[in-house]
Amino acid sequence: MNFDLTPEQTRWRDLARDFAQRAIRPRAAALDRAQQFPYDIVEEMARLGLMGLNLPPEYGGEGGDFVSYCLAIEEISRADTGVGITMEAHVSLGCAPLVAFGSREQQARFLTQVADGRRLWAFGLTEEHAGTDAGGTETVAELRDGQWVINGAKRYITNGGTAITAGVTIIARTGTRPDGKPELSAIIVPQETPGFTRGPAYEKVGWRASNQSPLHFNDCRVPEWHLLGARGAGFRQFLQILDAGRVAVGALSVGLAQACLDEALAYAPRRQQFGRPIADFQAIQFKLADMAMEIELARTMVLKAAWLKDQGRPYSRGASMAKIFASETAKRAADQSAQILGGAGFLADSAAGRYWRQVKINEIGEGTSEINRQIIARSLLAARDELLAGIVTDSTPALVVPAGID
Ligand SMILES: Cc1cc2nc3c(=O)[nH]c(=O)nc-3n(C[C@H](O)[C@H](O)[C@H](O)COP(=O)(O)OP(=O)(O)OC[C@H]3O[C@@H](n4cnc5c(N)ncnc54)[C@H](O)[C@@H]3O)c2cc1C
Repeated sequence: MNFDLTPEQTRWRDLARDFAQRAIRPRAAALDRAQQFPYDIVEEMARLGLMGLNLPPEYGGEGGDFVSYCLAIEEISRADTGVGITMEAHVSLGCAPLVAFGSREQQARFLTQVADGRRLWAFGLTEEHAGTDAGGTETVAELRDGQWVINGAKRYITNGGTAITAGVTIIARTGTRPDGKPELSAIIVPQETPGFTRGPAYEKVGWRASNQSPLHFNDCRVPEWHLLGARGAGFRQFLQILDAGRVAVGALSVGLAQACLDEALAYAPRRQQFGRPIADFQAIQFKLADMAMEIELARTMVLKAAWLKDQGRPYSRGASMAKIFASETAKRAADQSAQILGGAGFLADSAAGRYWRQVKINEIGEGTSEINRQIIARSLLAARDELLAGIVTDSTPALVVPAGID
């Protein structure tokens, strides 16, 4: 087993770390205060190759592997998760479906506009009555005279309403399946399409440097060839996309957890109480040790899931585990970091206070912790059934059967 990064992975991590610490971290508090989308930072990240790090070079991406991408997301998010999610949503949610399911024509037309990150692409699944339960999708796309006519609305869509957004891939109801369930399909909607409008960006308690907007479709027409992949494949497609997204949100969470530890490590030796730095007290030392230990484990889980993806091996369960553990690690780290800073950690403009506000969304976006726990449990039970039936599949050797199931 080799835990060393390759020279290329190290290069991406260091490039992202250098840029994030130099250009993002010093501005993170101001961006958060102003709830401002940092166009200049995103433009520079695009120039450095970060916004298309693991996208195909033939369309303008950098062709890096998924491990490098996760290392970069971690470093950007360590400086500001608002910028981190802009990068993650563009690559993992916006571009990845175009890469995975797009025709050559769709890739040439849409992916080339955004793969270098100078413009952004978004992914619209969530609606008023369709959050965790995508089966509740009410946005309808009807095929009429060679065009998809779309009516409905999406909400909370990251990168949906920036001035550099080029379009969105939405999940819409295109019919009803024989079993009575909705037929869901993915459809490409360029930003300038008549009938497609964006509402004002949401006010949020965290990720304030990022954009989330509601999207409205009112007799919005796109050509038939904007269907992404097969008709009715939408459900399977977004499950696949969200698997990879979860690993990346795990990396984002590790970055935030690391920022919390950075803050606590900088403060504890400086703050004097009872004539000594609080870092001398064992109660504080244990908090620091626990934070470091959990971050180490969360990072290892994220990188293992990313590595499995790079190897073309099953990684769905690992993705859910990494996302839950990393987001919950970040939550504990934010809490402990604020505790170590005492009253200073509760001030609105303190970094620790900002991290404490930011961290909650990591347990919600791209699949809540509840739904990810269900995914893990279902995969354990399916693996158990496979073992009992003597079926060995591609995924079986990768499964660790927990004690008690043999
Ligand atoms: C800042 C931000 C950015 C986002 N970006 C995007 C984006 O780019 N694209 C996009 O499509 N969406 C996006 N979302 C939406 C996000 O993915 C959803 O908020 C999330 O999936 C949860 O859906 P919901 O908010 O409707 O909650 P609900 O689904 O209503 O869930 C509410 C609670 O019920 C629990 N619950 C629901 N069903 C079950 C069940 N079967 N068993 C147990 N518990 C259950 C949930 O875990 C949760 O705790 C974003 C959201 C935010 C806040």
